[in-house]
Amino acid sequence: MKVFNGTAVFSGISFGKISIYKRNEQLIKREHVQDVVEEIRRFEEAKNSAIEQLKELYEKALKEVGEAHAQIFEVHQMMLDDLDYVESITATIEDQKVNAEFAVASTADTFANLFEAMDDAYMKERAADIKDVSERVLNVLSGKSSDTGTANEATIIVADDLAPSETVQLDKEKVKAFVTIHGSTQSHTAILARTMNIPALINTNIELLEEYNGKEAIVDGFTGSVYIEPDEATAKSMKKKQEKDIATKTLLLQLRGKESITLDGQKIHLYANIGGVEDVPKVVQNDAEGIGLFRSEFLYLNSEDYPTEDEQFMAYKEVAEKMRGKKVIIRTCDIGADKQIDYFNMDKEENPALGYRAIRICLDRKEMFKTQLRALYRASMFGKISIMFPMIISVEEVRRIKEIIAEVMGELDAEGTPYRECELGIMIETPAAVMISDLLAKEVDFFSVGTNDLTQYTLAIDRQNHKLDSIYNPHHKAILRMLRIVAENAHKAGIWCGICGELGADITLTETFLKYGYDELSVSPSMLLALRDKVRRTNVAEVKDLE
Ligand code: PEP
Ligand code: MG
Repeated sequence: MKVFNGTAVFSGISFGKISIYKRNEQLIKREHVQDVVEEIRRFEEAKNSAIEQLKELYEKALKEVGEAHAQIFEVHQMMLDDLDYVESITATIEDQKVNAEFAVASTADTFANLFEAMDDAYMKERAADIKDVSERVLNVLSGKSSDTGTANEATIIVADDLAPSETVQLDKEKVKAFVTIHGSTQSHTAILARTMNIPALINTNIELLEEYNGKEAIVDGFTGSVYIEPDEATAKSMKKKQEKDIATKTLLLQLRGKESITLDGQKIHLYANIGGVEDVPKVVQNDAEGIGLFRSEFLYLNSEDYPTEDEQFMAYKEVAEKMRGKKVIIRTCDIGADKQIDYFNMDKEENPALGYRAIRICLDRKEMFKTQLRALYRASMFGKISIMFPMIISVEEVRRIKEIIAEVMGELDAEGTPYRECELGIMIETPAAVMISDLLAKEVDFFSVGTNDLTQYTLAIDRQNHKLDSIYNPHHKAILRMLRIVAENAHKAGIWCGICGELGADITLTETFLKYGYDELSVSPSMLLALRDKVRRTNVAEVKDLE
């Protein structure tokens, strides 16, 4: 048995087989082969298994995210069968008498360079697809395909760190835990683990060794340990711990349908954070009173190109309908910083978190913003949609947003497309927004505090930088004071305010948030019932000031 330790960012106990996740790190060697016929057979076989994998991925994506997003897997199948591509690989094997791996990798490079050199933006992007499909064939050739195959096995992902664009590709049904070498408590891997209700460890002292692949392991999301090939006694005690955890969670289920109200009668709305339509069942299971943050940028991250108005409309409509009239707060595209997308073609920046991101991009690329707003207003007919804007720093930005919304409404009116008025809110996630929250409150219907970014901007600590994790302190007095100021200014102006950053789920602060008068907390679905339990045990009149 091997034991490694990290910091647990979500509790729970999971059993599964290790799957080492490495980023495009195939080291391809050029090898001379005698039997070119056998080498071509190896390539054909690998190509066919890659196509089979893609067929399965297509079916899965079709069910989970719909036709529009599934199509890419069909395109990838076609690419693998493309005559020019296949002929180039077989000719390389025959003419140069080299191994299939080298022929695939060199053909991938040649084709990708060709695509990249084209003027057409669409064709340029196909370069990434050629690399992607070739990587899949290389994985099969190197025997790595088994862990991405179809076996319905519980998997523990061990990675360096995972970018949002990588987490969206994971088979979420199989993944039972995350273990990363880097990462921070506010990273998207941590947020995803909370949404998926599975344990996650960061800063773990494990290495990405191939020999761990496929080995049985247990992740303890209470102590932060991962056991590879656990001995019998460990497995037994972990099983017990898991049963106890499940029993506690089952007990919490009794709180479904109960009010979120304190002992002295103060009510608060407990909403859920989601990344897409696929998270809604968990929201419903945990009896959220609404959705307080739909991170719409995941629609963009999940896509090979800008999602169209109709694609977005379908997603927003589906979530609104599934929530059956409960409030759904959709945040407009918050891309940039840690969420990068190739097709946005953004310049490299020295300080992306302080750079071209979120509302700044939307106000600069107005047509893209209008496409999203049109989709949101069209979807407003199918439920109770509110719209929220990220990274606000000024009143002028809010006024500009409202002008663009008026333009969108004018166009919808002219076409006779129906829509409803939506509540408009902003995220308070910059110190500037806190300091002028009295002025901003006059412009909007609600505030939602993004404590993840507010903490990084206030303490000047990059939320992605694991080296600073020990001083990234969202309990810092500066943050608590800001939270108090925001609530006071919101209420003075007669608007409601909530918290949708990860701090909202911190049970040690629930009493303080209630005391400040927060009207809403929006948290990962898996945290919701524990939070309701805490609210129902609180007597606000007895809460002492933390500042
Ligand atoms: C936040 O910054 O607190 C927030 C909720 O937004 P995100 O984590 O998506 O940046
Ligand atoms: Mg944020």
